[in-house]
Amino acid sequence: MVGRSFLDLGLLSQEQIPIVAARLEAKTEGKAAGSDEYTIKTRNGTCLTLEVKSFPIRIENRTLVLGVARAITDRKLAEKQAEEHREHLFHVSRLSTLGEMASGLAHELNQPLSALLSYANASQRSLGHADRDVERLRANLDQVVSQARRAGEIVKRVRAFAQRRPPVLHPTNINEIVRETLAFLHFEMVHKEIQVVLDLGESLPRVLADAIQLEQALLNLVRNAIEAMETTEPSERRLTIRTAAAAPGMVKVTVSDTGAGLPPEIQGRVFDSFFTTKPDGLGIGLSITRTLIELHRGQLWIEPGKGPGCTFAFTLPAALEDSTVPRGD
Ligand code: ADP
Repeated sequence: MVGRSFLDLGLLSQEQIPIVAARLEAKTEGKAAGSDEYTIKTRNGTCLTLEVKSFPIRIENRTLVLGVARAITDRKLAEKQAEEHREHLFHVSRLSTLGEMASGLAHELNQPLSALLSYANASQRSLGHADRDVERLRANLDQVVSQARRAGEIVKRVRAFAQRRPPVLHPTNINEIVRETLAFLHFEMVHKEIQVVLDLGESLPRVLADAIQLEQALLNLVRNAIEAMETTEPSERRLTIRTAAAAPGMVKVTVSDTGAGLPPEIQGRVFDSFFTTKPDGLGIGLSITRTLIELHRGQLWIEPGKGPGCTFAFTLPAALEDSTVPRGD
């Protein structure tokens, strides 16, 4: 290796060479800082991940780059496994949430299906009449189409939520996530006579988020709120969701209920895994929600003194494209 350039050692693939070359050049000119990570193929064909720290040095009027490489393959593998494990946990938790909501979802689906059946029957009947009322037939068929769409939307929503796939971050409208989450629980809200109050901020910056994970986080908070209101008088059951801009470059979401509230002595423990006060609770909803929010570089906490009931709040950073902070050239 002595006397040869790092680029000529045969460690890098053809695609890597120009990238590493550009990086080395920037390093030589002192324009780049920090360490780099490269995955290279060794002679026996295995992959090795290297963390390379490098600095420009001057030797006899020439500027060279001094690099120190450390193999971090094991650490990378462990990180990847931890990430996969976490994703698996999120997925299982989503499936269990869907399981809990199954009867509500079945009812929700039943409505458009029954409507479909009656409009289709009515259309069939009118086809049998000698003096067919075409306008009426058209109106009935329009209903058939729109009810079938509605049923399709519900199925689509459930399928998207149940899917296992790596998270994808997109600039996302937080208000749409709120509406989409509530659409999941529409039947349950009506059935449990819960009044839903939405106070959604206008022209909020979008947040960089994985929509399904964010729905999952919100769904956990809203389901907890619904469960907390089981002992509340039906006329007093109120779920309030607020979205607002929070300085600087953050969006804040609060979920408030008029339920039993959280005694101060357990507030510090509710985010722990497996902490539950419910006979059939799993105690992982809030810990998963906190992890999800933190993965989005936000924070989740209990808003103090906003009784009766309980208020959970979280923040998320605004996506850069929408950031109100002026960007440089
Ligand atoms: P689980 O719902 O399975 O118990 P969570 O992690 O979602 O698991 O919640 C942990 C505990 O936090 C609950 O058992 C409950 O005691 C408390 N909690 C969560 N949300 C609320 C709420 N909105 N109002 C009152 N208590 C709550």
